[in-house]
Amino acid sequence: MNNKDTNSKKRKIYTMAPRKPIYEGKAKQLFEGPEPGTLIQHFKDDATAFNNAKKGTISGKGVLNNRISEFLMLRLHDMGIPTHFIRSLNMREQLVKAVQIVPLEVIVRNYVAGSFAKRFNVQEGKALGHPMIEYCYKNDALGDPFVTEEHIFAFNWCTPQEMDEIRMYAFRINDFLSGLFAGIGIRLVDFKLEFGRLYENEREMIILADEISPDNCRLWDIKTGKKLDKDRFRQDLGQIEDAYREVARRLGVMPNEGAESSYVIEVNAKVPEKRKSSPAKTKSKSSKPSKTKKKK
Ligand code: C5P
Repeated sequence: MNNKDTNSKKRKIYTMAPRKPIYEGKAKQLFEGPEPGTLIQHFKDDATAFNNAKKGTISGKGVLNNRISEFLMLRLHDMGIPTHFIRSLNMREQLVKAVQIVPLEVIVRNYVAGSFAKRFNVQEGKALGHPMIEYCYKNDALGDPFVTEEHIFAFNWCTPQEMDEIRMYAFRINDFLSGLFAGIGIRLVDFKLEFGRLYENEREMIILADEISPDNCRLWDIKTGKKLDKDRFRQDLGQIEDAYREVARRLGVMPNEGAESSYVIEVNAKVPEKRKSSPAKTKSKSSKPSKTKKKK
């Protein structure tokens, strides 16, 4: 194929209609999916902490979180946890089932860290007697306050039956992920889950939604204690991108370098602009990611 052919093919791709945005969060954006009942979940590089008080960008984070979350959701599906993940679309996007989100952040803790360490004035890293769950009401304006099941039922955020399912899934997910991460030398300190209601065949079910990635898990290297998660951003520890890459590498899902620009073009009408301003990423002539290019 000569240059002219390649360019005309690219032009055709660029003129694809932009998708209908449904919701934009701090680290992700949701677009209308190609079929009813589906959404496209787009992972951004934006990072926020302390309820938006700290903002920044972690270069390449969206690509890594997309891969890491896809991998973990698939493994969880294999062990019987229903999830919203349908399939990967490209380096930053995945097709997911549209759900009605339960307005709770379900936090599972194995070791003392973060807000728990502050609240109880306990040293970070202390093992808890047993894994525990805390709930926060998902509400940015209120700063996602911690709530108990009493609040949850009083405000009708979910039913006692749904709560039983959420708790059971959260503990099973914790057991499975703790083992999986331990196998690659990482301690799963704590993490946050979100669940949604899916209405299928006149039945309502609770399924795992959102993402599982270093953005919403605390992951410490077992040998060195090095933090491999968003705490590096929250606490200005540096080497943030390296930490996310390390998690992807150990899970065996490290994306090929240079694959992103060519892949995203197929679905994101805004990308050509970005390609112009970042010549380093325009090297790949193929419209598909190179599977052969190895990370140095
Ligand atoms: O800050 P805290 O210690 O309560 O966080 C517990 C866990 O939940 C951490 O892994 C953190 O990354 C995650 N989390 C989150 N989103 C929030 C609050 C906490 O992903 N809004």
